[in-house]
Amino acid sequence: MPEDVVSRVRALRTLLRRASYAYYVADAPIMSDAEYDGLFEELRTLERDHPELLEPDSPTQTVGAPPSPLFAPVYHETPMLSIDNVFSEQELEAWLGRVRRALGHEPTLFFELKIDGLALALTYVDGVLAQAATRGDGVVGEDVTANVLEVAAIPSRVEAAGLLEVRGELYLPLTSFRALNERVGRAFANPRNAAAGSLRQKDPRVTRERGLAFFAYQLERGRSFTYHHEALAWLGSQGFAIEPHARVVTTAELHDALAELTRERAALDYDVDGAVVKVDDLSDRERLGSTTRAPRWMVAYKFPAEERPTRLRDIEVSVGKSGKVTPFAVLEPVRVGGTTVTRATLHNADQIARLDVRVGDTVLVRRAGEVIPEVVWPILELRPTGSAPFVFPSRCPSCGTELVRDPGEVDWRCPNRWCPEQLVQRLVHFASRDAMDIDGLGEQRARELIDAQLVQVPPDIYRLDDDELARVLGLREKGRERLRRGIEASRGRPLARVIFALAIDNVGQHVAELVAAVVGSLARLRVVTAEELTEAEGIGEVVASSIVAFRDSDFGRRVLDGLDAARVAPEERREKAGGPLAGMTFVLTGSVPGLTRAALTELIEGAGGTVRSALSGQTTALVAGENPGAKLEEARRRGVKVLDVAELRALIASHSQRGE
Ligand code: NAD
Repeated sequence: MPEDVVSRVRALRTLLRRASYAYYVADAPIMSDAEYDGLFEELRTLERDHPELLEPDSPTQTVGAPPSPLFAPVYHETPMLSIDNVFSEQELEAWLGRVRRALGHEPTLFFELKIDGLALALTYVDGVLAQAATRGDGVVGEDVTANVLEVAAIPSRVEAAGLLEVRGELYLPLTSFRALNERVGRAFANPRNAAAGSLRQKDPRVTRERGLAFFAYQLERGRSFTYHHEALAWLGSQGFAIEPHARVVTTAELHDALAELTRERAALDYDVDGAVVKVDDLSDRERLGSTTRAPRWMVAYKFPAEERPTRLRDIEVSVGKSGKVTPFAVLEPVRVGGTTVTRATLHNADQIARLDVRVGDTVLVRRAGEVIPEVVWPILELRPTGSAPFVFPSRCPSCGTELVRDPGEVDWRCPNRWCPEQLVQRLVHFASRDAMDIDGLGEQRARELIDAQLVQVPPDIYRLDDDELARVLGLREKGRERLRRGIEASRGRPLARVIFALAIDNVGQHVAELVAAVVGSLARLRVVTAEELTEAEGIGEVVASSIVAFRDSDFGRRVLDGLDAARVAPEERREKAGGPLAGMTFVLTGSVPGLTRAALTELIEGAGGTVRSALSGQTTALVAGENPGAKLEEARRRGVKVLDVAELRALIASHSQRGE
């Protein structure tokens, strides 16, 4: 048994226990649920791989946390268990497979939302609410009867003789949560903690004012039914609220039910951290039984987490097209935000120092939406002994030049314009979709061309001959043809895109359009003064001096000479007077199968319209293809019209007819 596995297991257990205490007993979590779930999964995997390390009091074997001594203990006749988690539909399918095998038939299922509150067990004696208890450690909970009697959403009477027990989730609706936090000054981290804190009050009158709500999800004892859905219907008839999405589903309907929940989740007035899928037939449940920790007849499907802990294998730095040196984390692969992440940005040297991230650390990685994954922080409790602070390299990893950092800047830079990695990144940028859009020229090819010294500045690609392409890139005729066509097609790009393709510091797509409008041609770019540039609206001194510095540098001159020699000499196109789209301005987002961005731009410009990179007050419409970016949201927010390509074509056609 490797010593580090033993110490890792020990460290994970200590930290998870501390987190559980903070979460369940103190109602003040010290970490997010996603972080907890990730560390819990790691511990479970280690214990599965090393069963000799298993201990009965490991967090993977126990439920919740011991009840607080502030409340009288209540013994649960049937334990209140946890629910095993799955984090993907694949794992859900595996659970279903186990259920099928154990039962020998296809189960009928019941679908519920996993409400993020706290579980209560309510005991009625001869129809009167006699006792309410929290889950505690599953066997012994806390007596919260006096508080629960103040919760209007919980019926104090039901129609039943003898003992009857109902279980369900006490929660705080989001509207009440926000109102509460406003009243008490943002005291609670989330609605779950607010619900737990509001219930576990010394003075039950405080509980009454908090607006707590309750969904029943289990009739534990007192009446017998054949199916879970019948029991819930009866509970509904007794005045209990049943979560409206709860329903019987077939295994085939599960996928759609989950997809629908993912869509609707944000609109609900309560926090939901996933779905609970249960076997509906109560005799099937009996046959499946439970482990010490969780029933086998239900499973919690948790939404894909947007953050997860993982191990930091190494810290490396990358060199960008302008020489900026960015540190990034090399990670043990981890599923986060719906994809597998192996790298995450660390932003800059200051950020690493601030967080004190070290190689070997367990770090929290976050990826939300389209954003690049980032390291949030290291989990210090799990730091291995003997780790050392990261020392930022003083030389460029590509060319060995000493790195510089300008006063007031956060980034280190490689000042060598001829640094091979910068050449590669500038070529990649030159060929990219929004610049010269050269089909078949990605990062790998760019690197091969630079390494073989066939290309130094991007325009060198216009001089490549077939032999060189075959020799260096190992391309066969078809591949050569494709690349050649891509290179040829790029000669005709409009001026603004050529200027953007030059990778001048501070000149993004939008600024390139402004510059193109001022200079009108590459020849003028060579002689234009900073004053002429700054006269144009939107071009400041920083941009103007970047442009002048570029075109006066050795590197810039080589680039502009190269474009000249290749006869890439675009002129700023003026709108075609009288074209069907004359006077209209479009912004593009997403991709259109069979139509490159350049072709789409030409379609619009050929019809007299203008294409801009950013939405503004002048935008006539956003043309959206497949997988549109954030611009679609922005357009909707600003009330800008959105067209697909078919509608754009129809617009051109209708205006052409009118014009004739
Ligand atoms: P669980 O919360 O994942 O599942 C069991 C609970 O789900 C039940 O007790 C019940 O309260 C609730 N539930 C909600 N809707 C339900 C439904 N429709 N049917 C049945 N039950 C329903 O398990 P757990 O053992 O209470 O807690 C583990 C989870 O708690 C972790 O996955 C973690 O996210 C969170 N946790 C977080 C921290 C932290 O530090 N942030 C610490 C401990 C636990």
